[in-house]
Amino acid sequence: MGIKENLEFYGNNIPEHVNLVAVSKTKPVSDLLTAYECGQRIFGENKVQELANKQPQLPADIDWHFIGHLQSNKVKYIAPFVSLIHSIDSLKLLKEINKQALKNNRIINCLLQFHIASEESKFGLDIEEATLMLKSETFSLMDNVKIVGVMGMATFTSDEQVIRKEFIQLKDIFGKLKQDFFQDDENFKEISMGMSDDYKIAIEEGSTLVRIGSAIFGARN
Ligand SMILES: *Cc1c(COP(=O)(O)O)cnc(C)c1O
Repeated sequence: MGIKENLEFYGNNIPEHVNLVAVSKTKPVSDLLTAYECGQRIFGENKVQELANKQPQLPADIDWHFIGHLQSNKVKYIAPFVSLIHSIDSLKLLKEINKQALKNNRIINCLLQFHIASEESKFGLDIEEATLMLKSETFSLMDNVKIVGVMGMATFTSDEQVIRKEFIQLKDIFGKLKQDFFQDDENFKEISMGMSDDYKIAIEEGSTLVRIGSAIFGARN
């Protein structure tokens, strides 16, 4: 199956309230253009340099999502154009995004990334860290970032129950933050969860953004 057929599949199988992020990391610009020509407008990349290199080669109306671990010193390369950063895992990073967004006269939308997997290696906050961050004066003074939701990655396992439990955990975190900090903020509405192998479970558990790579573009090397 080609990119076009794969996108058609997701077009027909993802509910209307869920947006598809086409994860194009490692894939050539020609593949992204094929997806674009099929109507895909949201693309996800996880390396700053790769994203900054691809962006000027593709149409300007693409929504670029950054989905990987982001180092503060690299924010400046994507701040002029990035539309959503999925991977906020520290106040320091958020502060730098605010600074670079201000420089570019923009407001950058961000998601708080939570550590929901049982694996050690995955980045992300826990609820206590996020609460401290959102209560801090530093955060209250940031005018150029907007927190629009949460993101998480489930454990890499074939055990559906483990995956489901972790997605439910993320949904609960979203609900708690909504109640405590974003009750009257209609922008706080995104739950980014679900990839090629677990998007169905993620949608069942409340995902609003699925990040799908290999099932659209083929396996990565
Ligand atoms: C690579 C990646 C994806 C997509 O993974 P697939 O299994 O290829 O769909 C989703 N989210 C993040 C954070 C990624 O790094």
